[in-house]
Amino acid sequence: MPIIEVAIAVPLNKTFDYQSDHEVAVGARVKVPFGAKKVIGIALANKDKSDFNKLKSIVEVLDEMPILDKPILDFLFWAAKYYHHPIGEVLLAAMPKNLRLGKEAKIKKVIGLPLKTSQPDFEITQEQTLAIEAILAEQHKYHGFLLHGVTGSGKTEVYLRITQEVLNQDQQVLVLVPEIGLTPQMIARFEQRLKTRVVAIHSQLNETQKLDAYLMAKSGDAGVVLGTRSAIFAPMPNLGMIIIDEEHDGSFKQQSSFRYSARDLSFIRAKQVGIPLILGTATPSLETLKNAMDNKLTRLTLANRAGGVVMPKVSLIDMRSHTDGALSKLLVEKMQQYLSKGKQVMLFINRRGYAPVYFCTECSWKSECNHCHASMIYHRHINRLKCHHCGDEQMPEQACPECGEQSLEVYGYGTERLEETLGSHFADTPIIRIDRDTTRRKKALAEHLEKINSGEPCIIVGTQMLAKGHDFSNLAMVGILDIDGGFLSTNFRATEYLAQLLIQVSGRAGRSGDQGEVAIQTRYPDHPMFHYVLSNRYTQFASSILKQRMSAMMPPFSHQALLCANAKNKQNAEDFLREVAGLLKSVKLDTVEIWGPVANSIEKKADYYYFNLYLQSNDRKALHQMLATFSQHIDTIKLKNKVRWYLDVDPID
Ligand code: ADP
Ligand code: ZN
Ligand code: ZN
Repeated sequence: MPIIEVAIAVPLNKTFDYQSDHEVAVGARVKVPFGAKKVIGIALANKDKSDFNKLKSIVEVLDEMPILDKPILDFLFWAAKYYHHPIGEVLLAAMPKNLRLGKEAKIKKVIGLPLKTSQPDFEITQEQTLAIEAILAEQHKYHGFLLHGVTGSGKTEVYLRITQEVLNQDQQVLVLVPEIGLTPQMIARFEQRLKTRVVAIHSQLNETQKLDAYLMAKSGDAGVVLGTRSAIFAPMPNLGMIIIDEEHDGSFKQQSSFRYSARDLSFIRAKQVGIPLILGTATPSLETLKNAMDNKLTRLTLANRAGGVVMPKVSLIDMRSHTDGALSKLLVEKMQQYLSKGKQVMLFINRRGYAPVYFCTECSWKSECNHCHASMIYHRHINRLKCHHCGDEQMPEQACPECGEQSLEVYGYGTERLEETLGSHFADTPIIRIDRDTTRRKKALAEHLEKINSGEPCIIVGTQMLAKGHDFSNLAMVGILDIDGGFLSTNFRATEYLAQLLIQVSGRAGRSGDQGEVAIQTRYPDHPMFHYVLSNRYTQFASSILKQRMSAMMPPFSHQALLCANAKNKQNAEDFLREVAGLLKSVKLDTVEIWGPVANSIEKKADYYYFNLYLQSNDRKALHQMLATFSQHIDTIKLKNKVRWYLDVDPID
């Protein structure tokens, strides 16, 4: 009678042995007793011996065929080891929820083929041709490419053509895109063009749809799998190419439980399968630029916009002497000009809600969350103060709780207040606001985008969600408000992110027809970053930052890991990390620096105090050796059960 080694989603670095009356396919799901419960696990091996006595028996084998085949298992084992995350949690996190819950691995509704495809009427450019040829020359083996194309240069067109070639060879293509905003438009473009089944994997699908998409990827019926970060784990037996669009985007990094980077993992998957990997962007991350400089990626450049369209004209509006309201007179005038010509205008402001501050003009008391070290944000449509960190809500006070005066006011602007202000300047123009509050309903975002795509003149007010990838053909002007916070941030990556954001947002303007215009309101018009952003010289800007990072030996020239501990008792969180630091220092790896514990930039969130311990080394191996030691000895840390903790390998903020 075989013994089955099973991985279970528990935060322990081990697997569990069970008795079975027959062999189980490796990678199949099994139901097993665990403590008082029955849980779903993944069979990893059939063995004849176990180190343990009195094994419990498997309750049920759920799959005859493996759910996770050998290539995916190898990939996930690699990921678990690299991120020092328990294998059971990694394996189960990589599957759709319905499989995790033990539901049958059966397709409910076959996703249809797009019926009619249509090809574009334009000729591809010389630059596009060169990129396509370079990529197709390196098929059937691992080769990494950076497709660096300015916004609107036709990168998507390149993806479509190389994808069709791979499909023609009966292989599948995996395309990763950032969070939701982009997915519907990309899916539509891929469906319209490609003679194959395109399945999407993203958070807006219901669980049945997610399972169907997963199974169609696994059966090979889907030629293209297009999804957000978790799609990197989609099983694809005939995978022939991986494309990561907007590779610089932070949403490829999962920021909870299993903290992986889908972008970084795509290198491993492409290498394991032996296929090309394409990272596309207008604003490469510094990691990717360094990889290109080190010849780990072949760089392909699309320096010009497709179809003879020119890049937008970018200018600054100096706000230093501006005291009243969110909009400068100049910006309003420019908007009027474009709207009167029947064009669309977009205003970007990266804060939702009505106003970020609710305060007393007499004593300067400020409304703060009772559970977090953070301001309460005023939301007008519900007349509530809301904490964007823990979600807590309250009625705004009528009188100041500090001095008792009725002198409470809001300060600053969010999307909601901007929308209101615009209404007074542009009474006859439709205003479309896109942020988390106006897109909570499932189809809301798609409806908003449809309105914009109809081309009618309108003002679009939006946050981050609108920054990337969208192709609105009648959008002529973009106004950027209130980005100055980025200059004051403590995150060493802040200016890199800000430059990427400005270029991406600017890239929405004037994508067809006449030259577009971008106006950036700022109180720091002399900041050196603008010098590059105004003339669209992202690469030069990034090179200058890379030099600084090199001399300071910061990422990507060194490697980091972060251990975060949090607890209701502040002392416990700090002391836990002190104890860990002591353990790590005893390993005596001089090449790894350890800093901390230090309080998180927001020290208290939802009643928990957050502290961080930072590890950094030029030697990735040494860093990982230290992390492995930590994982092995975590049980010896006395305060372990008094805190919640997590490890973040290659953290991004
Ligand atoms: P990117 O992904 O680089 O931002 P897109 O692929 O969205 O750019 O292309 C921008 C626009 O230019 C799209 O409307 C696309 O259809 C169009 N386009 C792409 N390639 C060409 C070409 N060679 N000639 C004319 N128009 C093109
Ligand atoms: Zn007061
Ligand atoms: Zn809060």
